[in-house]
Amino acid sequence: MLELNNVTVSYGQHRALENASVKVSKGEIVVILGANGAGKSTLLKAASGICEGVVAGEIRLEGTDLLGLPANKIVDVGLALVPEGRGVFPDLSVRENLTLGAYSARAREDERVTLERVFTLFPKLSERTKQIVGTMSGGEQQMVAIGRAMMSNPTILTLDEPSLGLSPLLSKELFQNLARVKDLGIGVLMVEQNAKQSLAIADRGYLIENARVVHEDSAANLMRDPAVQAAYLGVG
Ligand code: ATP
Repeated sequence: MLELNNVTVSYGQHRALENASVKVSKGEIVVILGANGAGKSTLLKAASGICEGVVAGEIRLEGTDLLGLPANKIVDVGLALVPEGRGVFPDLSVRENLTLGAYSARAREDERVTLERVFTLFPKLSERTKQIVGTMSGGEQQMVAIGRAMMSNPTILTLDEPSLGLSPLLSKELFQNLARVKDLGIGVLMVEQNAKQSLAIADRGYLIENARVVHEDSAANLMRDPAVQAAYLGVG
């Protein structure tokens, strides 16, 4: 389980996150919703050890304290991030991108098994191992980005705006793929603008407003909540 307890992040004088507490269990999909600048990316970056701000509070994965650990050690403990904009290497092939995802000791041990698992999850990638990623469609590049993160053999996969720039059809495919990641027993924590499609596959969600977690509920309840409908689902 990934647990953030009372996490506060400051960029100089600016508090981007204030006393945020968020939990994600294995085999669970959790969505974080919130307006631009609310602090959503900051939360994911703090958990991954790549936040430029000062992070305080408690961040634990399977009991291991992540706070202060360098990003590569955090990957080793079992937390992978698919950053906003995907972070793939466009000049390298699919296979090379996937291999680069298996750099941690934890991943290298089982690299062949993990690669098979990624190919089972995304059969298209197994047909395109030699394709240069920059020549792929946005949806395919997103598969590579998720596949690469999966190569680190995570227990928790975090994603920052994974559906950004994808058509509604490709977004649907993306969310179905994330549901399959969950079925592998992996916990999924994502920040999403697409509240409707992400809540449809999620178990729970959190709303962040002005650096604070203001609401937490099951995805089903959030979808029924009039305030959530008005702010995030375009209803009302
Ligand atoms: P968006 O949906 O627009 O990406 P967000 O909810 O992910 O928004 P964050 O990126 O977490 O928001 O940013 C929260 C606040 O912290 C914003 O006011 C932002 O300008 C500020 N911020 C983010 N990164 C830095 C940084 N490296 N230095 C200074 N301020 C930052």
